[in-house]
Amino acid sequence: MEIRENVPLAELTTMRLGGAARYVVSVRTPEEIPEALKFAQERGLATWMMGGGANTIGRDSGFNGVVVLNEIRGIEILREDEESLELRSMGGEVWDDLVEFACERGASGIEAMSMIPGTVGAAPVQNIGAYGQDVAAVIVSAEAYDTREEEFIKLAKEEMRLGYRTTRFNTGEDAGRFWIYAVTLRLKKTQLEPPFYNSLQRYIDEHGVTDFSPMNVRKMVSEIRSEKLPDPKEKASAGSFFKNVMVDPAGADAAEAKGIPVWRDAEGRGKINSGWLIEACGLKGKELFGFRVSEKAALVLINEKAKTYAELAQARKTIVDAVKAKFGFVLEQEPVEIGKEENENS
Ligand SMILES: Cc1cc2nc3c(=O)[nH]c(=O)nc-3n(C[C@H](O)[C@H](O)[C@H](O)COP(=O)(O)OP(=O)(O)OC[C@H]3O[C@@H](n4cnc5c(N)ncnc54)[C@H](O)[C@@H]3O)c2cc1C
Repeated sequence: MEIRENVPLAELTTMRLGGAARYVVSVRTPEEIPEALKFAQERGLATWMMGGGANTIGRDSGFNGVVVLNEIRGIEILREDEESLELRSMGGEVWDDLVEFACERGASGIEAMSMIPGTVGAAPVQNIGAYGQDVAAVIVSAEAYDTREEEFIKLAKEEMRLGYRTTRFNTGEDAGRFWIYAVTLRLKKTQLEPPFYNSLQRYIDEHGVTDFSPMNVRKMVSEIRSEKLPDPKEKASAGSFFKNVMVDPAGADAAEAKGIPVWRDAEGRGKINSGWLIEACGLKGKELFGFRVSEKAALVLINEKAKTYAELAQARKTIVDAVKAKFGFVLEQEPVEIGKEENENS
């Protein structure tokens, strides 16, 4: 295990905010996970599992505990035939590298999730998704260290309670309990057919695309995303800063009556794009306390020059208050905050 002391959370997270973590322990094999836990227990310190920090916000007070950095790498083909590909990827792999690996083998199911920053181990935690695909549709199982029972376990998909950005890994009493060190995905090799997700289909129509191989879909998605979303290497952000608003059928009717676009599922429940709400409040492109509401995707908050969490809190409040006043919806933050409870209790 590699152990570092007093590492700024700003260096570990793509939003580039936050004071120091007391210790950062990098784990490179599953066996090092319980060692890292023991290291924290011996010092009476809290722990926090971290991948790429692309969905994590650091606070000014830092984290008086042990950040366990998942650097467990490797991708293994479990089974491959004409119709399917089953992959086992270690949790510290870069998610986009796994997508590329699958596309190179002509397998589909994650190509539309190209370029989502972060690690494979974090992908099931909030059930990442983009352009009509999500992890829930392809995951078979996750191997994890259960920090409560202190044992290695394997969770089947049915045990993960995968919903829209909420799962057993990030909600309720099991939030933070399982440290995922490997994920198994089952992908298909069948030919992809239109129609694709709306903005992707628009691109296909505009460019007259006829090659729907997973690799070409990956290329198109990457191009669309590069136009709209900030590259974490160049601009600090945590991607979508707010979750979309989910409404029941009556709520969907009420929203539509107010002229708000709603995407309905088969049961009539609706999803409202929070970016649309923010834009309708006139905030798109606005500078707020060192942050910029992205010109291209109003759901993304770019850290242009803010140095403190306090500035983020002010920017967030401005947006939440504006949307609440105009539409009555209370926007919920998507990225998690490291050590929130620990700091609040201390
Ligand atoms: C520019 C940009 C674009 C984005 N676009 C999308 C998008 O299209 N769709 C989408 O869904 N998300 C998107 N995100 C959010 C982010 O990429 C995902 O949430 C990603 O899964 C985060 O991975 P990570 O390794 O960086 O997680 P981290 O930020 O390190 O961790 C996130 C959470 O998962 C937990 N965690 C991390 N690793 C593990 C593990 N191995 N076991 C158990 N718990 C773990 C952490 O404790 C934390 O609670 C975007 C982010 C950015 C910056």
